Parts: sequence; C-alpha cells; structure tokens
Amino acid sequence: MRQSLVMGNWKLNGSRAEGLALANAIATGLRPGNKGIVVCVPYVYLSDVQDAIKDTPLALGSQNVADQESGAYTGEISAAMLKECGCAYALVGHSERRSYYGDTNESVAARFVQAQKEGITPVLCIGETLEERESDTTFAVIDEQLGAVIDLAGVEAIEFSVIAYEPVWAIGTGKVASDQQAQEVHKYIREKIAAKSQAVADKVQILYGGSVKPSNAKAIFAMPDIDGGLIGGASLDAESFLTIYQST
Ligand code: PEP
Repeated sequence: MRQSLVMGNWKLNGSRAEGLALANAIATGLRPGNKGIVVCVPYVYLSDVQDAIKDTPLALGSQNVADQESGAYTGEISAAMLKECGCAYALVGHSERRSYYGDTNESVAARFVQAQKEGITPVLCIGETLEERESDTTFAVIDEQLGAVIDLAGVEAIEFSVIAYEPVWAIGTGKVASDQQAQEVHKYIREKIAAKSQAVADKVQILYGGSVKPSNAKAIFAMPDIDGGLIGGASLDAESFLTIYQST
C-alpha cells in the first residue's frame, strides 16, 4: 500500500506575511501523526516557512532546483542550498518551467539527479499539451519526458522520487481530466516503469495535477494508480487544501 501524498504549489503568489499565515493555517489543521502533506513555496520564503512549520507534520518543498551543483550560474539555487532551508522535496520539470523558461527533458533530468544527490525527493512533472492529446501523442510525450530521467538516473532512482502527471491543458484552466482519463495515463506510467522494474513501479507515488479542487479530489484519488495530487490554485486557501488532503 503506497502512502498518499498531497503537495501544494504556491507558484509566484503571496507576500511573506501571507505565506506564513497560510503555512500556519495548514499546519494548525493537521493532527500529530498526519503524513504526506507538503507545500512548495517561493525560494525566498523557504527559511521563514521552515521555522513556522517545524515540529508539525507539514513538509517543505521547492518549485525548482538548479541543474548544476555549484559555480557561475547567476540566479540559480542549488539542491544543497535547498537542503539547508529544510526542503524534503523539489519540483522538477513543471510545465510552466518547460514552456516559459526553456527547461528541456535533459535539464529536467539533471535537476532530478541534483536533488537526489542531496537526499531531496524530486517530483518529476510530466504531461501533454492539448495539441499533443488531440494528435494522439500523449503516450509518446510521456515516454520522452520519463525516458530522459530513466536514461540519466536509472530506473532504480525512480523509487526515490515522486511522479506528477499533469496534463498541461488542465493546469490552472478549471478543466480537469476525467477520473478515467487520468487513471489511463497513470496506469501507462506505472506499466512503463514496471517494464524495467516491477518493484519500483509498485512503490513509486504517482500524483495527479490539474485543477484539483475539494469537489473533485475524492473521485480522482479513488483511482487505483493515483496516489494523491499536486495542487496549484486550491493550495492557496488553507481550508480547500486541507479538504483535498482529507480526500486521500
Ligand atoms: C500545478 O500548478 O501544478 C497545478 C496543478 O495547478 P492547478 O491546480 O491550479 O491547476
């Protein structure tokens, strides 16, 4: 039985005070012993949120990580730096990074490796655009995005990661994939990994992301290959985020 996991992605939102209030409100809604709940906050607030949530079940993640260990890479944040700020998770390859900031399958794979070197769990975000879905290339896109990481890191590394299937057409659009559409791709991802290692496929958590809300979370999370969610908009409201968490 895989542990379920719900992760919030705050993106480029909120002030320091708002972030701290949100983190505190989420942590207050948890009970000791709760597991599998994470917030991915803007880099500059990581340390503040780290202090605010220490001794609570809420865990911390970043929204990206550098593809290099250190050196002359102005503006980048390394996995070691994130570790110091208390990050247990790092998103890699979010579709907004891929489409607006040029993250490629190769650089995403390098970010994945950097995170794992520091003991940070990379959350590999993969998913097709609407155009790709309509041209029936969803599985080919998944093959390329997942394949680049397996080629660089090896299938065994997937066990110590999380995969987030996020159809690009469902992110922030209010259009959610149907439970069946999501399950179909999750099953495909798990089978793809199982072809190389059944043990890894059985263990890896695969999250769904794309307009998850309190009203649709339960049905999505009930699918056999969906182990939780990566939540954008609805993670900015503590009550909504906690309701989604309680739907796992
Ligand atoms: C996301 O940013 O990963 C996401 C799933 O956003 P939203 O929930 O707002 O669609």
